[in-house]
This record gives sequence, structure tokens and C-alpha cells, in this order.
Amino acid sequence: MVTTHNLGFPRIGERRELKFALESYWKGELNEAALQETGTGLRNRHWRDQQQLTLAPVGDFSLYDQVLDMSSTLGNLPVRAGESDENELNRYFRIARGRSPADSNCCGVHAGEMTKWFDTNYHYIVPEFDANTRFALDSTRLLTQLAEAIRAGVNAKPVIIGPVTYLWLGKSKDSTDRLSLLDDLLPVYGQLLQRLADEGVEWIQIDEPILVTELDSQWRHALNRAYHSLKASPVKLLLTTYFGQLRDNLQLACELPVAGLHLDVISAPNEVARITDWLPGHKVLSLGVIDGRNIWKTDLSAALDWLEPLHQKLGERLWLAPSCSLLHVPVDLNSETTMDPEIRTWLAFARQKLKELQLLARALDEGREVVANELASNASAVLSRKDSTRVTDPEVRRSVAAITPAMGRRNSDFQTRSALQARHLRLPRYPTTTIGSFPQTREIRETRLKFRKGELGQDEYQNLIREEIRQCVRKQEDLGLDVLVHGEAERNDMVEYFGEQLEGYVFSRFGWVQSYGSRCVKPPILFGDISRPSAMTVDWIRYAQSLTDKPLKGMLTGPVTILNWSFVRDDQPRKDTCLQLALAIRKEVLDLEAAGVNIIQIDEAALREGLPLRQSDWQSYLDWAIEAFRITANGVKDETQIHTHMCYSEFNDIIEAIARMDADVITIETSRSDMELLDAFKGFSYPNDIGPGVYDIHSPNVPATEQIVSLMHKAAERIPAERLWINPDCGLKTRSWDEVVPALEGMVAAARALREA
Ligand code: GLN
Ligand code: ZN
Repeated sequence: MVTTHNLGFPRIGERRELKFALESYWKGELNEAALQETGTGLRNRHWRDQQQLTLAPVGDFSLYDQVLDMSSTLGNLPVRAGESDENELNRYFRIARGRSPADSNCCGVHAGEMTKWFDTNYHYIVPEFDANTRFALDSTRLLTQLAEAIRAGVNAKPVIIGPVTYLWLGKSKDSTDRLSLLDDLLPVYGQLLQRLADEGVEWIQIDEPILVTELDSQWRHALNRAYHSLKASPVKLLLTTYFGQLRDNLQLACELPVAGLHLDVISAPNEVARITDWLPGHKVLSLGVIDGRNIWKTDLSAALDWLEPLHQKLGERLWLAPSCSLLHVPVDLNSETTMDPEIRTWLAFARQKLKELQLLARALDEGREVVANELASNASAVLSRKDSTRVTDPEVRRSVAAITPAMGRRNSDFQTRSALQARHLRLPRYPTTTIGSFPQTREIRETRLKFRKGELGQDEYQNLIREEIRQCVRKQEDLGLDVLVHGEAERNDMVEYFGEQLEGYVFSRFGWVQSYGSRCVKPPILFGDISRPSAMTVDWIRYAQSLTDKPLKGMLTGPVTILNWSFVRDDQPRKDTCLQLALAIRKEVLDLEAAGVNIIQIDEAALREGLPLRQSDWQSYLDWAIEAFRITANGVKDETQIHTHMCYSEFNDIIEAIARMDADVITIETSRSDMELLDAFKGFSYPNDIGPGVYDIHSPNVPATEQIVSLMHKAAERIPAERLWINPDCGLKTRSWDEVVPALEGMVAAARALREA
């Protein structure tokens, strides 16, 4: 029998139950027991969803982040989390979210740094190491979940992050070499495996996704050392990789002394044959054949065509699974009762993917005949997508073919433009601005929801949003900000908002995917050629500009970010889709300019996360991504100031590509990493204006004016002061006004102090 298993199930809940429970808990409206009960309920429900599988994951559930969980399991929460005899959950959330000095009678605690989980839009809390780092096992969380699973009759396969990937994901806070910690770490892993074995566990999924990245000899050696040391454990280890090809690590992955290997076949279809040859005969080969990161139905018959002979060859050694954890897809397509029915038939969410897995396994075990009906309906859905006339638009194809390099170039160089813009805009030194969104209050959400449900007419809706814009502009004037924004009250999400107005997209109602902690996004589904039937933002921005004499910045999302934050088609290269998006947003840029908007920000928050995992693949991605941005932005007059924004982008290593975007101003995230990002500017003199974020909007902490001044001093060591802007490090939509107002007051006061000095 083919063994089926899953690498991880989305934990936020079909209706985002976990999100709401967490947020109530943080507000003090829910107690710890009730929060834990929500977790238990979700886990049990998710195990029921997976009961057809041979093995179900345990420990994939997390109250905030699986990497932070691992830090806690390894006794490696930073010291500032608090004393170890304190409430564990408080310590945990203190690192997840920080603690404001104003929040308690004690001192502030800064949150752990967050960064992208490989090339996904999930963010994890970066483990911290220093010379004093010592690990000590705390297996409570994992054992509690395991006990629950066993009670629920689950054939449990605990999921943990492997020791070498754990070190690789972390950051050393002093000069400690992360790998020097391996010796101290391995015994703790040994104990953990032993504890799990004591509970009767047979298989453990141990994730080492760094095997799909470029590893130098030290890291490769560390993998060897780690698995030779863990070999003695009385459990079977399934060494798990995902998100890419193994390439030069293939032999290493095959030879590490474990009981099985999982390969992401969606990213590495070309490696299946080599692995089958290399893998020692006693090892299990788990093939991730269902795309765990995208929402298209699998072509089951095509998969069976190549799986059948492999099954013949491998027999019991063949396992099947999704390519990676299903964390990256929504829970259930059946919730989508209002989705375009034709397109719906092309899709599969987590529950549907597990069904596909089941079908494949049955077809292999018992023959295709036993699932003939299911295979036929799958084949007809796959064919209907291939043949649909809704997927291609000849007009769009013609426009893309007609793109010229000149479309991606400004008329003049930055010096010339910047002089013209200065004359026009008359901004002070250290201009202050924000990244676009202002707090999305309950009223704003209700207004949008009512409009969506048809409970508000177009005019009423417009008046209410205009009122929000008016108040937002007024508040910014009162605060004394220099470049204002309209506040994005009409936007539920910076990608969905545009997707909804573009041709070629459909939307889910409940297709939430966790981004970090309790934050979820609902990626729109890009299924066909992209065009823009009419202007998307011009009316709102023009209205906002009419309310103030200060310059108002129009707000758009760039093509690369729209691409990276959507579920995109898998039937053409990403590059082709990106260029279509670029042409559509370019039209919007030109319409804004024609409407008298002098500053236009094109957010490319997600540019970096689209980077291939291996540096050797970066150049080709950056070439087309930057070109797409340039085509979007650079059709404007010299007087028009183009801004772009990137969040959580460590861009030291792509600074030259960022410079090639040639945006007049770029705003970036920096505050959580203490201006470390600015190291990029040591070796490379970034030519244009830059606003390093001075207010960490992902934490409820309000920065003090002196702190902002000192951050700006640090920035001025790297970048000439006349090219510095002052801004938060991202949009303010998740914060409340009573956090935002003092923070922005501090920012404006800091700008004044700097100007005076
Ligand atoms: N303009 C967007 C906002 O302020 C940018 C958000 C982001 O970068 N993630 O919300
Ligand atoms: Zn941002």
C-alpha cells in the first residue's frame, strides 16, 4: 500500500478562528484556557480532515509561528522574554509581538525580527543566538499535541524543524558562529527524539529545506554531523525538503543516514529519476506530487502516467504527499459558494488536495478503474481550463509583444529630476511621510462590508469613504506630516483591491492564508491574461488631493508584488504574467499623473520574496522583475516623483537591482533590525532618496522621539542627510489611532529636531 501523509495543515482555521481567538486574547478579552481550547478544537478538526491519510502531521499547529515554537522547544527564547518560571505563553508572545514600555509597569521588550520563510509570503520569527546561547529541551507543547492526537486516534507523525535548518534560519547577535552551536544543539534534538519515541512515535518528519539552497562545505558538513549523531535515535526520520531542487545537494540528501527522504516534485520534477537511482534501497521516498503552494487542480492522470512505473519499482517504499506544508493554501474550496463556477472547477484547496492525494494512492494500489469516475471528472476539469477562451486575450498578447525598452526609461537622470521635483514640491529637509494605509477601524471595515453585501448604495459608500479620507487628511495635516496619503480606507488588501478591478482574476471569499501571527491574506487568483478595463484609484486620490495644499502621494501596488502575492497561473512563465500586470498598472500611473497627482508610490513590498532560493538564479528573476517595475513607473514626466516601498526586505544583496528601478524615493523596513539593513550602503552608494523605516508598525510599541533621532543619525552615517526621508517601516492599517498618533507625533518631532540641529 502506498503510504500517504501530509507535511502540515493550515492552522488559522477555515473561518480564521485562530486569528480571532488570538486577537481577543491579546486584548485581554479571552483567557488562556479559552485560547488553548480554540487551538485544541482546530487541531482535532484538522486531524479529522486528514484521517484518510496513513500519517497525519502533529506539531505543525502553532499559536504564532512554527520557528518560534522550535525556539521555545529548544529553550532558546531570547533572555528578554522573561524568567523561565514565568507564564510560558506570555514569554512566547513577548518575543512574537514585543511589549511596549507604556504597556506595563516594567520595561519595553522588542519583538523578535521577522523574515520571510524561504520564498513564501509566510513570515517567521528569527531565532537569536549569541555567545551565551545554551539549549535545553522543553517538549511540553509537542507532547501535549501528541497526546491529543493519540487520543483522537491519529496515526501521528510529529513535525519538527531540523537542527541545521534551525541554525541557518537564525541570526547571531554577536560574532558567534551559528554552526559552533551545533554540538550543544544535537543532544537536545537527541532527547527530543527519545521523548517522542517514548510516546510510541514511529516516524518523525524532520524538515531541512536548506537542502534546496546553496550550501558551502561547512553547512554540508553540519548536515552530515547532525544526522550521523541523530542516527542512534529510536525513531525513523523522514528528511524533508521543499520549495526547490536539490541539485548539488542531491547526493548528500540521499546519503544522510535517515529512514526516508521527501522531495518537492512540483519544484523538482527533473530530480525524481536521479533520486530513485541514488536513494539506498532501504529508504522510503516520499514524493510531493500535489502542489502545496498553489490552488490548481492536479492533473491526476498525467501524474499517474509517471507514478505507476515508479510504484512498480519502489513498491512499499513509495510515499505520496503534498509538495510542502499546506500552510500556504486556503482550507476548503467548498466554502466558495459564490465563486465563478467555471473557474472553481479548476481549483483545489487544502481539503481537496488531500482528496487528490487519496485518489492517486488508490489508483496506484487498486488500479485506475476503481476511481475511474473521479479521474474522469478531474480530466474534464483540467481540459476545460486548458481550452477555456477566458484564459487568453489577444489584445493583451499584442500589447506585451509591443513593449519597447524606451517604455522603461525616465526622460532624465535622477539629478535632473530631483532638482525639478524640489522646485515643484518644496519639501523641507528630512521630509516626513507614511507608507500609505492608516488604521482600518471597525467602521471602515463595516462600511466596506455593507457595500459588498449591497446594504450600502454606491453614493452612500462613496460619501462614507470620502469622509474617512477627509478625516485622514485632516489628521495628517494636524500632525504636520509633509507628504500626505489618502489612507487606503477603500482597500481591504493592497493586492486584492487591484486584482478585483483587473480582468483575468477571480476571488475567494474565505481563501485566507497566514502571513504572520494572526495576520492572514487572501491572495487573489490570477487565471487569465490581465487587462485594466478602467481607472482603479484615480477618483479617491484626486478627491484626497483636493482637500489639501500639501503634496498628496497616490498609492499603487506594483506588478511584481501583485504577482508574488497572488495565486498565479502555472501554464505560462511568471515573467509573462508580470509584464501583463506591468502594462495594466502603467496605465493607472499615467492616469494619476494626468489627474494632477505629483507623487506616486508603487509598492513593491514583495519584490525580494520572489527571489529564487539559489543566488545563481537571481539575476534572471531580477532582470525581468526590475524591467516590469520600470515599465510600470517610468512613463511619467520628470516632475512626477516616483516612490516605491519594500517591507521586510533585506536587500543588501540586491541593492544594485533596487537602484536600477530608478525610483526617486524608496522607503524600506529597518527598525526591527536596528538599521542593519543600511549596511548595504557601505559598499554601494545608493543614488536616489531613501526613507529608512523608524517606526516598527508590526509591534504595538510606540517609539520615542529620541529613538527616532538616533536611528536617523545612524542612517545619516551611510546616506547623505539631504537624501533621507522619515517614515514608518510599513503601512499603519493594523495599528489603532491611539498608537499611530503618538508615534507619528514623535516622528514629526524627530524631523524638527534634526532640521534644527
Ligand atoms: N501602501 C501599503 C500600506 O500602507 C503598503 C503595505 C505594505 O508594504 N505591505 O498598507
Ligand atoms: Zn511594507
